[in-house]
Amino acid sequence: MQRIEIGRFEVYLLEDARFRLDGGAMFGIVPRAVWESKSPPDEQNRIPLTIRPMLVRADDRWVLVETGMDAKPGEKHRRIYAIEGAGALLGQLAELGLRPEDVDLVVNTHLHFDHAGLNTVSRDGKIVPLFTNARYVVQKQELYDATHTHERNRASYLAENVEPVLEAGLFEEVEGEVELVPGLRLVPLPGHTLGQQGVVLESEDAVLVYTADLLPTLAHAPLPYIMAYDLYPVTTLEVRKRLYPEWHERGAWLVTPHDPAHPLGKLTLGDRGWKAEPVALPGG
Ligand SMILES: [Zn+2]
Repeated sequence: MQRIEIGRFEVYLLEDARFRLDGGAMFGIVPRAVWESKSPPDEQNRIPLTIRPMLVRADDRWVLVETGMDAKPGEKHRRIYAIEGAGALLGQLAELGLRPEDVDLVVNTHLHFDHAGLNTVSRDGKIVPLFTNARYVVQKQELYDATHTHERNRASYLAENVEPVLEAGLFEEVEGEVELVPGLRLVPLPGHTLGQQGVVLESEDAVLVYTADLLPTLAHAPLPYIMAYDLYPVTTLEVRKRLYPEWHERGAWLVTPHDPAHPLGKLTLGDRGWKAEPVALPGG
């Protein structure tokens, strides 16, 4: 866990689980000959990833962005994705003296199982919401898609992370850009899914962007480095082209959800286009 300060916000970068996904799927059209030196694959062609939820102390509220990896589906699921350390999020909250019921707002960037896995837990054979006092804030489009799946997205949306929260009435659906608390905005980042959202923190000239899967790792910053998992890859490209110049100009700190080595980065623009460089943690 790393702690940083962005103006008046305290930000904690957590790590819920390590896992692996197919390197080819992660890098889309980029050939293995190009990506393998940056991200060496294992014997099954999988590359190491992490899932990095972000906790923000905003005024007197605790805002949790992403709830981590779902390990509820069991052994086969854990083996396919080589999931280790799922649920570590809870121990990290406890280190801060927090129980799940102390979280005021959960931001689901999207509802895939590696991002919304601790939306719910299994208790006494029943799957129930974990953050019982929170509103789970999600784009309306995302919740619609997660509850109306098709063959192309069904493996990513597990009903157990969504239905119990729906039944408990804990989802708050939003549409488009929303200022959730002063200085903390939810911004639509469509492409990976149509209803994906990111988080922008702005305070005292400092800007931090939680990129969601618009940039799953810093290595994905070059414009054509778009995951094969993205349902609308050209939309991903357009959103990057629209937002990169602003993020670059404002010196935004970037937090990506899956980078296994670098919790923070910044965009750079060189002769060969956009990249993101890892940066050290600022004061905190
Ligand atoms: Zn993801």
